Amino acid sequence: MKNLLSLIFIFVFLASCGTLSRKQDTNTYPTDAQDESIIKSSQLDTPKLVVGIVVDQMRYDYLSRFYSRYGTGGFKRLMNDGYNLTNNHYNFVPTYTAPGHASIYTGTSPMNHGIIGNNWYDKFEGSVIYNASDVDYNSVGTTSDEGKMSPRRMLTTTVTDQLELHTQGRAKVIGISIKDRGAILPAGHAADAAYWFEGGDAGNFISSTFYMNTLPQWVIDFNAVKKANEYLKTWETLYPISTYTASGSDLNKFEKAPRGKEDAVFPYDLNTLRSDNGNYSLIKATPYGNTIVADFAIEALIKEEMGKDDITDFLAVSFSSTDYIGHQYGVNSIEIEDTYLRLDRDIERLLESLDQEVGEGKYTVFLTADHGAVHNPAFLQSQKINAGYFSTSSFKKQLEKDLKEEYNQEDLISNISNNQIFFNKASLSLNDINPIDLENFIASKITDYDQIDKAYTRNALVSGQMHDGTGYLIQNGFHHKRSGDVIYVLEPAVISYSKTGSTHGSSQSYDTHVPLLFYGNGIRKGSSSKRTEIIDVAPTISSLLKIGFPNGATGNPINDVLKH
Ligand code: ZN
Ligand code: ZN
Repeated sequence: MKNLLSLIFIFVFLASCGTLSRKQDTNTYPTDAQDESIIKSSQLDTPKLVVGIVVDQMRYDYLSRFYSRYGTGGFKRLMNDGYNLTNNHYNFVPTYTAPGHASIYTGTSPMNHGIIGNNWYDKFEGSVIYNASDVDYNSVGTTSDEGKMSPRRMLTTTVTDQLELHTQGRAKVIGISIKDRGAILPAGHAADAAYWFEGGDAGNFISSTFYMNTLPQWVIDFNAVKKANEYLKTWETLYPISTYTASGSDLNKFEKAPRGKEDAVFPYDLNTLRSDNGNYSLIKATPYGNTIVADFAIEALIKEEMGKDDITDFLAVSFSSTDYIGHQYGVNSIEIEDTYLRLDRDIERLLESLDQEVGEGKYTVFLTADHGAVHNPAFLQSQKINAGYFSTSSFKKQLEKDLKEEYNQEDLISNISNNQIFFNKASLSLNDINPIDLENFIASKITDYDQIDKAYTRNALVSGQMHDGTGYLIQNGFHHKRSGDVIYVLEPAVISYSKTGSTHGSSQSYDTHVPLLFYGNGIRKGSSSKRTEIIDVAPTISSLLKIGFPNGATGNPINDVLKH
């Protein structure tokens, strides 16, 4: 009786909110049969499982550059049967892995979630810290320190946190990646588990006591098989190498060969190379790093029975080998092309498993990237395009010389990292130097230096709202407490990096423009070139699931994507 009364109450409440369809909207009390259908239909409305896929360092144009080479069941399935947002951008700098992942899942930028880099100078500690390191927790599944991790430096909640809160912790939320931060930040604070791969002589998926005290049996069993050995044999191109016409020639001076190999050319004898390249760590910089992550994600899906009951679960999978390969061989390499053709197959396999385990139409997938990447600057120079290499240490020397001349001091700067200059507050107050004067002096001085395009002061960033251009991106990436005192921007395609391979981190479109695909339950078919921002992903998924937005969310749901 009590149950019936509460159901009637729910019905009256829903009807008064106008959330029922017209057919069900009746002034008479519902019968038991009607109650059932109301509850069932509200459950059928939401997916049984959300799968978030983040491809590390995936530029937007990798969807188009390799399109004709992809199969029908991977990227193309998501693009053609789902919704393709072709003008999706990061709305902040720096475009690095940890801020990228945090922003996708929190629906806001570093200004609010506080993940301002992979590593950053902690001015309160006086040392450089890693975004996910946490000495309060211990490793699970290894005797090393690789598991001493947590998402605690991420200050706001994720969409995955909100799902846990909404379901009283009944939703199952698991994060998986080769990289610790690629698993930890997406899974959020209230997750059931995050797993990442330990290289070196271990070759296992591990975790942290932040989530659990021991690995579940299925993870122990997966590790025991040592699948990585199966993959560390030979890396040959998937198709005849002459068909890789969307990339440069295999032998060129813009790529870095693994240790123990003279040139960065196919084939790669991985079994021989592993001894010189950190043993199991070698798999990270091969397409097989993605394959083993797909294997592990499929195993999690089955063994954890994700998407089986009526409460939505969330599987956050980040494919990060693409980033290691991009750094080593560069945007224009055959190695990158082959990696994406193989990732396409891994994604196809993952989708097929979802069809089988959860059921087609019952799950929702989104796919995006944590940042893009720049073409190798030396390669761009060979094409007569402006590009270059910036030396942070020469920059520091020049700045110190100018500060000595102006202030007759040598210790005004504590740290320069991530294009941010941190002041030595103690020295400033000892020498009675006004920080705002110093900010202005440095910003105006360094803008005259070679390769520096722009500079922004802390004072400007905290006192006014910037609405567009580079300033908008700098401000969104600027955390009032954690960030530095002067932020500088390099000229386009100028990087502080080795002469081989590619990197990322800037405000330029090659770093900010990334794919954004939605597919499956509750998602319309279509595409749009309307500009969207990465911070819109989490609010869109929150809307789809009808749950609260992450607590710092500044993005908006992308309504075109959603059926309702
Ligand atoms: Zn990354
Ligand atoms: Zn990277």
